[in-house]
Amino acid sequence: MANSRFEYVRQFETHEKLLPDTYILVRIDGKKFHDFSKCYDFEKPNDVRALKLMNASAKNVVLQYRNDIILAFGESDEYSFIIKRQSVLYNRRKDKLSTLFVSLFTANYVALWDKFFPERKLDYKHLPFFDSRCVCYPNLQTIKDYLCWRFVDTHINNLYNTVFWQLIIKCRLTPREAEQKLCGTLSSDKQEILFSECGINYNNEPEMFKKGSLITRKGDILHIDVVKEIDELFDGF
Ligand code: ATP
Ligand code: ATP
Ligand code: MG
Ligand code: MG
Ligand code: MG
Ligand code: MG
Repeated sequence: MANSRFEYVRQFETHEKLLPDTYILVRIDGKKFHDFSKCYDFEKPNDVRALKLMNASAKNVVLQYRNDIILAFGESDEYSFIIKRQSVLYNRRKDKLSTLFVSLFTANYVALWDKFFPERKLDYKHLPFFDSRCVCYPNLQTIKDYLCWRFVDTHINNLYNTVFWQLIIKCRLTPREAEQKLCGTLSSDKQEILFSECGINYNNEPEMFKKGSLITRKGDILHIDVVKEIDELFDGF
């Protein structure tokens, strides 16, 4: 097949290489998981099975690429994989990194589904799929700030979602009423509403919900305060 007269079309291909000597972030995110989670009756706001399935899928990606990955962080339907500055994985080709990470993740998500949702078969008309992007971060500070950004996002979203759903479930508010009640409130107000009106102390919520999940290169899954531990996490990188 080599050297046919058609082969010139290869010249139209481009291979974008990510900047050398920069940290590479690959972030994947579930496509329309708001609908997907409804379709499979995920518990609101946090379905433990779904989070554990995300973690198990991401863990297999980390283990496959453990020599190049520093760590991974996940929340909701997204996962961030942080790749070493010096990595030459796939010659730093953007398409290769982005597509191989997301397809390996998705393959695992589908293959492991039955383990986490044994009572619910995946319906081929409603299959999970994910988008993916690569971003280069020029130094340690920006990659640390990236991770802190995702961590703080987890906290803000989880606090909001926890109060929102408790107001609906426990206080019988409509989604619209719950939204209006929370409009303009600060974190401390939300914690107070949760405590006084729903009888829930936010501090006692599961760590995985509040803090997201961090996967080390060894494959350990931790639920820690990323902002507090950020320097230790990148020790040696
Ligand atoms: P897009 O395709 O633009 O990413 P999306 O519907 O996936 O759209 P996201 O902003 O990614 O929107 O939000 C993911 C949504 O998936 C959450 O808002 C939530 O409704 C749902 N979801 C994800 N994980 C869980 C979970 N473990 N438990 C319950 N719901 C979840
Ligand atoms: P890379 O990761 O670089 O793509 P590769 O091993 O996938 O490496 P390809 O050039 O993509 O290399 O070739 C795919 C190979 O997969 C074929 O050479 C063949 O050995 C095998 N293969 C693919 N489809 C089939 C099939 N239907 N039947 C038998 N072998 C197959
Ligand atoms: Mg999105
Ligand atoms: Mg999504
Ligand atoms: Mg998302
Ligand atoms: Mg191939």
